[in-house]
Amino acid sequence: MKALKERILRDGKCFPGGVLKVDSFINHQMDASLMRSMAVEFVRRFASARINKIITVEASGIAPAIMVGNLLELPVVFAKKKKTSTMENMLCTTIHSFTKGKDYTVCVSSEYLGPEDKVLFIDDFLANGNAALGILDLVQQAGASLEGMGFLIEKAFQKGGDKLREQGIHVESLAIVDSLDDCTIRLRD
Ligand code: 5GP
Repeated sequence: MKALKERILRDGKCFPGGVLKVDSFINHQMDASLMRSMAVEFVRRFASARINKIITVEASGIAPAIMVGNLLELPVVFAKKKKTSTMENMLCTTIHSFTKGKDYTVCVSSEYLGPEDKVLFIDDFLANGNAALGILDLVQQAGASLEGMGFLIEKAFQKGGDKLREQGIHVESLAIVDSLDDCTIRLRD
């Protein structure tokens, strides 16, 4: 998606270890107009999918997910990183965080994810695919079906995209980073 790619090249910052920082328009300060345009693009790309719910992981997936949910007039559920005592019938899974280098547990209530659900997963980044595979695990535990996965930015030099596509998952990424070597951002055309 042209507008996102231009913005990444203009404002994205490269960090050692293959980390791209987009804090000025996605991850800290957010550009709501761009976020909306990205959601419009997801709606276009998943137009043929039959979806009744959007799912994401807190915190960085919530903004793009809620924009998509707003456009499609569908509920948005986010997997929570903290279990609270008031949450009942939780489905949980463990995810390894690429950016933090540690494991964490995410949970979703079976009240909000069940066998009747056909979900679209939305997240900001796809790196090694751990968050996405964790969500797939929750969807399977719930007996729901996964209709697709949409990412704002995919880092193709990590293997998440391959893992998901090999499983036959419909994956859409609005910008694909081929390399961050030498702290230069190289995007796919
Ligand atoms: P994965 O689970 O695919 O390895 O990593 C995806 C998650 O890690 C995303 O939800 C995102 O929050 C975070 N992440 C991975 N790579 C990057 C990156 O280069 N920059 C930022 N800001 N977050 C990332």
